[in-house]
Amino acid sequence: MSIDAIKDAIRDIPDFPKPGILFKDITPLLADPTLFGRTIDMLAERVGAHDPAGIVAIESRGFLFGAPVASKLGIPLQLARKPGKLPYKTVGVTYDLEYGSDRMELHTDAIEAGASYAVIDDLIATGGTAAATADLIELQRGRVACCAFVIELSFLGGVQRLGSRPIESLIRY
Ligand code: AMP
Repeated sequence: MSIDAIKDAIRDIPDFPKPGILFKDITPLLADPTLFGRTIDMLAERVGAHDPAGIVAIESRGFLFGAPVASKLGIPLQLARKPGKLPYKTVGVTYDLEYGSDRMELHTDAIEAGASYAVIDDLIATGGTAAATADLIELQRGRVACCAFVIELSFLGGVQRLGSRPIESLIRY
C-alpha cells in the first residue's frame, strides 16, 4: 500500500474553520481501518528509529496518532493539553498565534529529566504548537528525540520553528 492511498483519504475542506484556511480533514482516514493501521505502522517505524523513551501527544488530534504509536512501541504516553484540561499539577508555556496567544500544558511529573521524547501531532502548519510543546519538554529538562506528523504543510515553513530538532512527516503539501 502506498502513501498515496493515505493521502487520498485526507479530505480538503476549504474555508474551515474560517475563510482562507484549507482544512485537512483526517476523519475519512480514521474511518478506514486498513489505512489508519498502515498510518500508525509507518509513524511508529519512523518515530521508533529515534529510540524515544516516551511519546508526548498534542491535543486533540495528536492523541489519535500518539496513543497507538506509544502502545505499539511499548513506551509511555504523555498528553500535552490546552489550559485547564489536565487534572494534576501542571507546567505550561504560552506561545503566540497570528492573533493572540495560546498555552500548552503538561503534568509536572510527565517528563523525566534526561529522557528523550517524540512529539506527535496530526499536522504541522505554522509550527507554533509543536515548538511550544518541544520547548516545554526541554524546560522540564527532557530531550526531544523527534517531532512527528502525519501531515506537513511545508509551504507554511513550520519546521523552521522547530530548529534543529529532527522532523518526521509522512505526507507533505
Ligand atoms: P500550528 O501551530 O500552526 O502548526 O498548527 C498546528 C495545529 O493546528 C495542529 O494541532 C493541527 O491539528 C491544527 N491545524 C492547523 N492548520 C490546520 C489545517 N489546515 N488543517 C487541519 N488542522 C490544522
